[in-house]
Amino acid sequence: CGIVGYVGGQSALDVVLAGLKRLEYRGYDSAGVAVLADGGLAAAKKAGKLANLEKELADRPLPTGSTGIGHTRWATHGGPTDANAHPHLDNAGRVSVVHNGIIENFAGLRAELTDRGHELTSETDTEVVAHLLAEAYSSCGELAEAMRQVCRLLEGAFTLVAVHADEPDLVVGARRNSPLVVGVGDGEAFLASDVAAFIAHTREAIELGQDQVVELRRDAVTVTDFDGAPAEVREYHVDWDASA
Ligand code: GLU
Repeated sequence: CGIVGYVGGQSALDVVLAGLKRLEYRGYDSAGVAVLADGGLAAAKKAGKLANLEKELADRPLPTGSTGIGHTRWATHGGPTDANAHPHLDNAGRVSVVHNGIIENFAGLRAELTDRGHELTSETDTEVVAHLLAEAYSSCGELAEAMRQVCRLLEGAFTLVAVHADEPDLVVGARRNSPLVVGVGDGEAFLASDVAAFIAHTREAIELGQDQVVELRRDAVTVTDFDGAPAEVREYHVDWDASA
């Protein structure tokens, strides 16, 4: 129900957890995070409140990295369990994705992935996206292009945010019928379902339109449509007081 992504000079885990807390008001039943660090990808996820996730992180700390994603889930497909919590990973553990919304055609995609040898470990509609991204990445070698290819296969409403261990300074987001906002900082950038998640860091925002994919780097934000053509976006300054 809430999504946060970060790339920059701070600890991604700290920024993402603080952002998720600012989104708690939206309601959720599980939470999780993934960070890119030391050439790999590390994730933690727990059913229940963010406090459960924080306890898990205290017991089993993640390595410190400066690129990360986080999620609070409101379950639609599969109950609120640790396994169904986001992020979801591919079988190699190199790509990680969080999702708000519903992938309407997940059952068919899941059957095709299983036929091709993928092992799915959750009951969610979301997990297919991690596996599809891994497949697309192995042929095109670029996470943003993989995201565009996968989005063209998906039906339903979704916000997706993903990272890949082979592109450690990049967060990729996609939006169809579900909000996703970019925050542009100085040498850092944010992605969230709501500006409340990053208002403590920057007030320069970019609202993504329908069917757009964003590439988030420390010093650059690139937006295209699902076919890769440059897209029109709305840039604005958040001037309401979010300190309350
Ligand atoms: N449909 C997904 C799930 O059930 C995402 C739910 C959400 O928007 O949090 O896991």
